Amino acid sequence: MKLLRTREDLRELDALRADGPLTFVPTMGALHAGHLSLVRRAGTLGPVVVSVFVNPRQFGPDEDFDTYPRQLDRDLELLGPLAPAAVFAPDRDTVYGDADAAVEPGRFAGGLCGEERPGHFAGVLAVVQRLLELVRPEVAVFGRKDAQQCLVIAEMVRNLGLPVRVVDAPTVREPDGLAMSSRNAYLGTGDRRRAICLWEALQRARSALDQGERRAVRIRSVMMDALAPADAVDYVALRQVDDWSEPVEVAGRMLLAVAARLGPTRLIDNLVLDITESGVRETSLLDMEGIA
Ligand code: AMP
Repeated sequence: MKLLRTREDLRELDALRADGPLTFVPTMGALHAGHLSLVRRAGTLGPVVVSVFVNPRQFGPDEDFDTYPRQLDRDLELLGPLAPAAVFAPDRDTVYGDADAAVEPGRFAGGLCGEERPGHFAGVLAVVQRLLELVRPEVAVFGRKDAQQCLVIAEMVRNLGLPVRVVDAPTVREPDGLAMSSRNAYLGTGDRRRAICLWEALQRARSALDQGERRAVRIRSVMMDALAPADAVDYVALRQVDDWSEPVEVAGRMLLAVAARLGPTRLIDNLVLDITESGVRETSLLDMEGIA
């Protein structure tokens, strides 16, 4: 496992390109089992490069950029057994230099986290575009946990015609269902206990769907009820994955997404479901097993 820091160091990746499609897993570090599952998934596709970079551009002025956990040594220890080919841990200047890497997010950035966190997706696209230019992978793997982010990135890749396949990988959860997140480290004991309400909301929506409920307004209200233990609900959203519209009756590939606050911590979670007359099943976000 090579540790790469600079643009010059990235030349070492060229030797790997003959071994299969170079497969990239961008992260902000503070790795947990969710990140590691992406690295494992990536490893089934080709030689893996993991990046660790806390991207200042995707944090709002009142958000947690300064306090976001930074623990590269521990991250490297966790990655060791998975043996990715390389870890790219650049500084801010290596990523951005003087470049103005602004990409306007498309329609999938509307609503949900795009509304709650102004400038967030522009910041995500800036870093993803820069990292894709620097690493030049053939495949990039993102977590379905950040579903809207996956869609916004896949849209950018399509619009700019970037030569990379975008793959989404399933959400890894704690035994009680809480989606793993680096921000779970902020949760005190009481907040951690209540945090399960996000998963509960998604589960209850799923049960209602399994029982045949298709009215979006009913499903939203089931989810809102389950989120009562949270201190605030940022959103409860149902969106058609293919065109980002808000359905009146749910059908086809749907994103059910929630964002809520527990004390000072904001958490998100979602389910991606294929809803047909014959039933409901979990599915991937991007087409053809995640190929954008
Ligand atoms: P982050 O370090 O939070 O920017 O996340 C890096 C990548 O890991 C993103 O593609 C996330 O969607 C993904 N990720 C974060 N949490 C999970 C999880 N619980 N399960 C699967 N992937 C995740």
